[in-house]
Amino acid sequence: MHAIGIDLGTTNSVVAVEGHYPEKGQVCENVTVIADEFGRFTQASAVCKAGDEIVVGDDAKDMISEEHTPVRFAKKYMGTQETFRVGDELWTAVQVSAKVLEHMRSMVERALGGTIQNAIVTHPAYFDALAINATKEAAAMIGLNVELMMEPIAAAMAYTYSDRSEHLRVLVYDLGGGTFDVTLVERTSGAFRPVAFGGNRELGGYNFDKSIALKMLASLREKGYRLVIDQNHPERDPRWASLMHHAEQMKIKLSSAPKADLRMPGIFRDDSEPSKSVSMAFSISRAEFLESIKDEINETISATKAVLAKAGCLSNPGAKSENDPNAVHQLVLVGGSSRIPAIQERLTQEFGLTPHFSEDIIDLSVAVGAAIAASQMGKREGQVLLQNIPTGTDRQKLTIAGRVLPSQELSDVANCVVTVRGGLDEETTTTGGNGGFHLEVMLNEESENSLQIVVESPNGEVLLETTRQVKHGEAIAPPPPKPKPPLPKPISVATDRGLKVIAAENVTLPYSNTTAFVTLEELTEVPLDIYQEDMLLSTLAIKGFSSPVPENSRVDLKLEIDDNYNMKVTASVPVASISKTQEIKLQKPVIPNVDEMGVQLKQLEVQYESRLGNMPDGDSKARMAAECDRLIEELKKILGGEQPERIQAFMLLNRFALLVKQISAMGALKPSKSEFEDLLKAIGELLPQAIQKRPEIAQQRLGDTVEILKQQATKAYQEADPGAWGTHTKKVAQIKEELERIVKGGPEPEIPPAPILKMIITEYIDELDQEVAAGQGNLPPNIVERAKSELRTARQKLGACDVTRGKQAQAELIGVLQQHVAAAGKLLNRDSRGSKVGELPT
Ligand code: AMP
Repeated sequence: MHAIGIDLGTTNSVVAVEGHYPEKGQVCENVTVIADEFGRFTQASAVCKAGDEIVVGDDAKDMISEEHTPVRFAKKYMGTQETFRVGDELWTAVQVSAKVLEHMRSMVERALGGTIQNAIVTHPAYFDALAINATKEAAAMIGLNVELMMEPIAAAMAYTYSDRSEHLRVLVYDLGGGTFDVTLVERTSGAFRPVAFGGNRELGGYNFDKSIALKMLASLREKGYRLVIDQNHPERDPRWASLMHHAEQMKIKLSSAPKADLRMPGIFRDDSEPSKSVSMAFSISRAEFLESIKDEINETISATKAVLAKAGCLSNPGAKSENDPNAVHQLVLVGGSSRIPAIQERLTQEFGLTPHFSEDIIDLSVAVGAAIAASQMGKREGQVLLQNIPTGTDRQKLTIAGRVLPSQELSDVANCVVTVRGGLDEETTTTGGNGGFHLEVMLNEESENSLQIVVESPNGEVLLETTRQVKHGEAIAPPPPKPKPPLPKPISVATDRGLKVIAAENVTLPYSNTTAFVTLEELTEVPLDIYQEDMLLSTLAIKGFSSPVPENSRVDLKLEIDDNYNMKVTASVPVASISKTQEIKLQKPVIPNVDEMGVQLKQLEVQYESRLGNMPDGDSKARMAAECDRLIEELKKILGGEQPERIQAFMLLNRFALLVKQISAMGALKPSKSEFEDLLKAIGELLPQAIQKRPEIAQQRLGDTVEILKQQATKAYQEADPGAWGTHTKKVAQIKEELERIVKGGPEPEIPPAPILKMIITEYIDELDQEVAAGQGNLPPNIVERAKSELRTARQKLGACDVTRGKQAQAELIGVLQQHVAAAGKLLNRDSRGSKVGELPT
């Protein structure tokens, strides 16, 4: 039983297995890339139905005829409800991928015998949770236990396997068939982590093929052929599949020749009445081809620069000294499309790094890295979990350890017999009460030891029989551990201010974090729209609270993501001591057809125009308008073009919709700016009168507070932040009401009820905490420490305060405010802002 690594690619897939099997494929490091019976290492990620038979791989890719068209590039649609025609059926991208995974697994099973249960399957860095989960679903459909891994990390593991440097930074530029990923990977003390990543899941060799196929189509139409191709599902038309197939051949030729030609009489028939046989005569030069893909290449270069900038590297890392901790040591090329010589030249020119490019491994590195990582997994074989056994060691004693896992048939796992043959002596042991075993084998020196490991139940049933080759002599460093999975894109919750990030990009999984929100109205359930970047992952409502959540209550939202990308949220309302947990069930989107997207775009444009008018002028507005205009232009170009990429348009449309949502929140600023100005004017008139009546008000420096609130509100207005605008203007309105009461000689203003007071003080502490964090570099460390300590104490006392004890609680809270919070404010040089305390009637 072997652990395998599968590179499930958009165009091609590759499988590798731990161990050296030179007769079964290509040995790379401690793994073997398995070849099929024709010696091919890569298999097209294609599925086709011929008669009753489902064909997968390269054989399927070539089956283009009137009767059947292969499904290719399904990976582009992972995580959506898009369907593909397979014979008379419609399959999802998950079903197509499951077939491809099954095909790759069976290649190993055929080559090595036995059945495969465990695999590491790779995915692009830029996959969102929907696409990642779809990959897991595909594996589950064929009963494969999988762990997932990012493609660039796998590639970096393969390329740096024998480099023993303590610290390595590798820039992985992966331009494959359908996706582009660029990742800066760091290896420190043998452990890998992605430092920064970027890319575009809609950019790859497929787009290059399409640019040539579209030129072919245009030239055929110019010659008078009538060719009508469904713009929603061109892939279902064998003529389009044929054009794409030939375009790819020509593109590959252009990597080594200045010109490519195609002459094919009777390539297919057109849609004239009666139909005509189409004769193809088409040429394209390398220069023409490069001109047609220049925007895409430029995009990859900008994304690479952005990744370097994110990681704090210079834009020209090749110029940096080796010892600089931010130096980039290697530029590794992955993906078939990075074979294009112009791309390699451009990378050298832009970044001063010589691309590490090896024809032997360029298509295989991701699968090799995945298999290296798989070889590190403690492997479960049937009922036995066997710890990793190295393929070489310089010690004479080798430890074999593992555990028998209980099952229905064998619940008592003690006293199983473990035998190891093939070393100097045969060794036997029995398992302990929890099924664990551990024995040491003496190895034959200077030779290959073929160790046979047999585990039997107490009544003699064989639970495991496996053989491992271990060479004694040279120590082989264990492969690096599989890195912790990072979160590829941030996860956010939609609020009235736009999206609030609750899990940042690149945090490692498992992950757990709590973010505080405030309810804007009384709620019987807490509705949540959860996004990953622009994609709506799930709309859920946390329900079942025993009493409604009051307006203005703090809601703590805890997000937990396990290392398998399962997510759940817990909403707690501290004032009411209520809490509810719910799993986030991902909702796969349906990709609308081209016409529907055109209609949606028009509707969004109308909303955009009207809402932008209400948005306050300023930088934010200008930035937002520029981004929206760019999206509109791009969407019009895609949707109005020949054979539009629906998934690409869909992604852009999502982004545009989200921006419009944000604009509408900003456009609806309440109160309006002139209402706010009236408030300030009224306060200006009321304040002197109020001071006359109650001179102590002067000491509260209410005027300062109003001034600060005015500044904050103005900033919120300029930044078009409706939430902050609402908060600050509301406080100004409260002050005006209080002043009016004083001037009219009304009753003493009341201290807010304890729960509200507690919330206000907590909010203030949060603000000060943020200020401490932001000012950490600028303030003297002892001041920062003292401020932190005051705030910590304030939080503790606040936490201990029982808000149900009415007036006593109010007094306690005011005490905390005056003693600790104000002290922290003073330390942070906020004594004038400290008069914000004056806002609270004390
Ligand atoms: P991958 O997803 O890594 O398997 O990459 C497959 C993509 O690489 C396909 O779009 C291929 O057409 C493309 N490709 C393979 N070889 C070449 C080449 N020599 N020149 C340009 N593109 C290539």
